[in-house]
Amino acid sequence: MVNFEYVNPKTLESVPALLSKKWDETMLLAGGTDLLDMLKERLVQPQRVINLKSLPGLSYIKNGAGLEIGALTTIAEIAEHSSVRKNFAVLAEAAESIATPQLRNMGTLGGNLCQRPRCWYFRNKDIVCIKKGGSKCYAVDGLNKYHCLFGGGPSFIVHPSDAAPALMALGASLDLLGPNGKENVALADFYELPVDNIRREHVLEPNQIITAVKVPQPAPGTKCTYLKFREKQSLDFAIVSVAAVLQMEGKVCRKASVVLGGVAPLPWRAEATEAELNGKTLTAEVIKKAAEAAVDKAIPMKQNSYKIQLTKVMVKRALEKLV
Ligand SMILES: Cc1cc2nc3c(=O)[nH]c(=O)nc-3n(C[C@H](O)[C@H](O)[C@H](O)COP(=O)(O)OP(=O)(O)OC[C@H]3O[C@@H](n4cnc5c(N)ncnc54)[C@H](O)[C@@H]3O)c2cc1C
Repeated sequence: MVNFEYVNPKTLESVPALLSKKWDETMLLAGGTDLLDMLKERLVQPQRVINLKSLPGLSYIKNGAGLEIGALTTIAEIAEHSSVRKNFAVLAEAAESIATPQLRNMGTLGGNLCQRPRCWYFRNKDIVCIKKGGSKCYAVDGLNKYHCLFGGGPSFIVHPSDAAPALMALGASLDLLGPNGKENVALADFYELPVDNIRREHVLEPNQIITAVKVPQPAPGTKCTYLKFREKQSLDFAIVSVAAVLQMEGKVCRKASVVLGGVAPLPWRAEATEAELNGKTLTAEVIKKAAEAAVDKAIPMKQNSYKIQLTKVMVKRALEKLV
């Protein structure tokens, strides 16, 4: 590894000034489960690493009018928290599907939301793909069975976080702190397709930090779940996942929020599915149509068309579970 300065900040307010205005010159270290791999593989070579764990007060879960989770809260704490399990089951189920107990004990929510893509071309230090300043996405003519169905081009990565689709379906927002102070951004506006800002996955500035995640309290009658299909049952990223949050009145769905994971460069809102569900009694026929609508606009690559059928089945199963 290349030498870097290691800083243990004492106050949260001091962090933005310690960060560079240029990506990857300085980096935040939370649980380190992604960052250390990136450092060891020499995918990033920062001059300064800022250890967030030296900061007090960023690890907490509060459930009052809504849910608030500090950025340094571990994935394990979220998965096990009784209020999260009771009132935000989609998030608890997503959290417990992440990696292994060891990784959930170390990995934090802020780090999970900002982890870099898992594309094998991106993760190979010898390949300068378009996300690393090169000119092409090697998945297009290469091995693309794990790549995206929606929102692809010029990069065809899939978003790796399980927490993100669940939080997006719940209407979450992020508290950010930067040189110009605090701001709150809807998670739906946080992630970006890799088009203009191709080397990043979100709108965070290099000198901004996520401090907390806020989730509104679900309306009465809300039911939710997270289903994830992965190749290895022991640990694995989602091939396809579905976060479904339905505001129900008996069998009638008043408002549906359905977000897919593993199929696009960002958590992908299944708008056509939501439109098929809103205001309808959830019969088997309605659910079938809603599941089919989820893949209406899919554009498969050479090796990933299997994800189309898989997505339909996963959406159908998630909806059936909630009726
Ligand atoms: C074998 C393996 C399997 C995995 N399986 C899954 C899986 O199934 N599902 C899944 O969702 N994830 C999975 N992961 C990813 C894992 O969940 C993430 O590595 C972890 O959540 C990152 O959290 P961290 O605190 O360790 O982040 P770090 O590694 O410390 O940081 C990750 C990135 O986020 C940035 N960052 C950290 N905190 C903040 C903050 N507060 N504000 C702004 N930027 C920040 C860092 O600078 C860095 O770029 C897996 C990882 C491994 C190694």
